[in-house]
Amino acid sequence: MSDLFTPEHEQLRASVRSFVTKELAPHAEQWDRDESFPREIFERVGELGYFGMKYPEEIGGSGPDALADVVVIEEFARIGSGGVSAALGAHKDLACLYIYNFGTPEQHERWLRPSLEGKAIGALGVTEPDAGSDVAGLRTTARADGNDWIIDGSKTFITNGAWADYVVVAAKTDPDAGHSGLTLFVVDKDTPGFEARRIRMLGWRPSQTGELSFSGVRVPDSHRLGEIGGGFYAIMRNFAWERLCMALGAVAGATRTYEMAKNYALEREAFGRPVGKFQVWRHRFADMATRIEAARALTYRALRAYVEGEDPIREVAMAKLYTNDLAFQVADECVQIHGGYGYMMEFPAQRAWRDTRLGPIGGGTSEIMKEIIGKTYGL
Ligand SMILES: Cc1cc2nc3c(=O)[nH]c(=O)nc-3n(C[C@H](O)[C@H](O)[C@H](O)COP(=O)(O)OP(=O)(O)OC[C@H]3O[C@@H](n4cnc5c(N)ncnc54)[C@H](O)[C@@H]3O)c2cc1C
Repeated sequence: MSDLFTPEHEQLRASVRSFVTKELAPHAEQWDRDESFPREIFERVGELGYFGMKYPEEIGGSGPDALADVVVIEEFARIGSGGVSAALGAHKDLACLYIYNFGTPEQHERWLRPSLEGKAIGALGVTEPDAGSDVAGLRTTARADGNDWIIDGSKTFITNGAWADYVVVAAKTDPDAGHSGLTLFVVDKDTPGFEARRIRMLGWRPSQTGELSFSGVRVPDSHRLGEIGGGFYAIMRNFAWERLCMALGAVAGATRTYEMAKNYALEREAFGRPVGKFQVWRHRFADMATRIEAARALTYRALRAYVEGEDPIREVAMAKLYTNDLAFQVADECVQIHGGYGYMMEFPAQRAWRDTRLGPIGGGTSEIMKEIIGKTYGL
């Protein structure tokens, strides 16, 4: 137990773990096969208050306590379904966080309160077919028309995009202004000209990832989130939390996958002994355990700086990079220790492998994390 967390946090951890173990994890395999999971899960999570930990009670939250939210993130990583954790996380840590950080009291009432109750599902639409890493290169536009804005363009790979009730969308309001030309808007799903299409994926299969198109979508200025031209800076500000969430989830997920691999290694016998008792595997497990603890320490260091009000750009990028590469490597070892069974759809090792492959891509790729880290050293 880290000294970051209080006994109350550990009580919360026990409750979230019990919920995950009883109500979510047993369905992970079926939901993966179905490539979907029930929308009602959002209402259930909302009812339990698990979406609202870092948000104040006045706007429907159950906090504010960022560390309580960390407990929820770590426990949700133990569902054993990257897709379900991602869907719940993209709602809570992306869509809701944008509305909370940059929204007016009216916008909080309209979108945040029902989101924290799990009655509305949100998504964040930044990435486009022609621009992901290069956020300033987005092409979707929003042009002023009286007191309205007309949005044209497209977004892709948007988690929850195919079933979200609303999407926080980044659009160019001044295509010549570079970083200062981007503004955020909230688009409701039934707005004329808005369409969403589901995309099939290697992993995260229950997650309703969508490709979105905006064709003359008209929204009033009351749907603008934050300042005109403030979109890029808002995205950069929220990246810190998003990447921390991905690091925390990767460490907790890697821990779970490690346990799954170790349990199998102690059960499966070859040449008259459990395969985990061969020295080569003992060393590989020792290596994984050591690196998981190093990853946890790195992540908690970044987290501590973040909750103390610093802007730990380098530490967050290092944590996101290291933990997400590691989570995939641990999943790969988990497949290997399972031998042929590791390759079979009946065994969960393959799901961990497919799901963790996303970590070094989403939320800023590993290459981009290295760019950020290198720049902080003046390179
Ligand atoms: C399952 C899934 C869910 C996602 N959910 C969301 C979401 O909810 N909302 C959202 O807005 N986006 C989402 N994304 C998008 C994700 O953030 C982007 O895919 C990611 O940022 C990379 O962008 P890209 O795919 O356009 O790759 P590109 O930017 O085209 O990069 C392609 C390759 O080039 C490398 N590269 C690019 N620039 C550099 C550079 N300067 N130096 C070195 N290498 C470089 C990249 O690392 C990568 O390997 C999701 C993606 C996936 C796959």
